[in-house]
Amino acid sequence: MTQRFTIELRRLQRDCHDVCCMCGRLFKTADTAHSGYAQDASPLYVGDCCASNLKETAARYYWQPRAYDIPGDDASLWRYMDFSKFVLLLKEKALYFARADHVGDKFEGAKGVSTNRTLWDDHYLRFFQEAVRNPPPGHTCSLSDEEVQREAERLLRDLRTTGQRDLRNSYLSCWHESETESEALWRLYCPPPCAGIAIHTNYASLNHSLGDDPDIAIGRVRYIDFRRAFAGVNDAIFRKRYSLSHEREVRAVIHDHKSQETVGLLRPVDLALLLDQAVISPFTSTWFEAVLKETISKFAVTIEVATSELMLEPFY
Ligand SMILES: [Zn+2]
Repeated sequence: MTQRFTIELRRLQRDCHDVCCMCGRLFKTADTAHSGYAQDASPLYVGDCCASNLKETAARYYWQPRAYDIPGDDASLWRYMDFSKFVLLLKEKALYFARADHVGDKFEGAKGVSTNRTLWDDHYLRFFQEAVRNPPPGHTCSLSDEEVQREAERLLRDLRTTGQRDLRNSYLSCWHESETESEALWRLYCPPPCAGIAIHTNYASLNHSLGDDPDIAIGRVRYIDFRRAFAGVNDAIFRKRYSLSHEREVRAVIHDHKSQETVGLLRPVDLALLLDQAVISPFTSTWFEAVLKETISKFAVTIEVATSELMLEPFY
């Protein structure tokens, strides 16, 4: 295996994650997925069914379901923010990704609640004991029971360390998926009298505005009851407490192992692709609309400015 990955191959792996790209067969858990290149150098991501078409194998994987669901291209996404963050977006032409341990949720990246930790540890200790005792074909385990136990405990400690490190290596841009505005989110992110706006886009525009980058995972957060369930080893960054399910969050996630000293990253973004509307907070003073429009014109971008649907008047 060459471990050579072009951007086209990484995009193919991301987009075709669930199927063999040649015959369309759906993968099942623990199937082998092969990625690499055909005779004509085109990228391939295939199952055993079509692996004979590979001239070069970059990597093989035990296939696992994706940790998150991908919204449809037209899925309507909102990001509520105060005016200063909007100006930063326009000025830098870049989207801010906050480091996961700095977004204000102590359960960010968590595997479970602390009272269930013994259950988690026992499960993985048994898993590692079995793995050490039963190495892959062609290898034998010559360790005593005591040595197996020590090795399993070491692997469990590594797993904990990796979980904490992953949190510091993950950067998030968080969006709310909804066809309509949310009064709750206006109050949460732009509380009166904050000069706030909500920018609107959709999944395809968000992805394309970030360059269709295969190293940015964009997907729906799944909300779980941590009292009764655990997040998986590899999917914790896409799991949150059920009590936050009103957020209906779609997040873009960057794993960056080099930037641990910084609490946020700016990623270049095509504003024309990203922004289709900027909605003014219903709690903002009337002078704000003129200031917002003048600011937008100074940065030479075209964005429709709209008033909030919460400003509509009822009749009886
Ligand atoms: Zn196939």
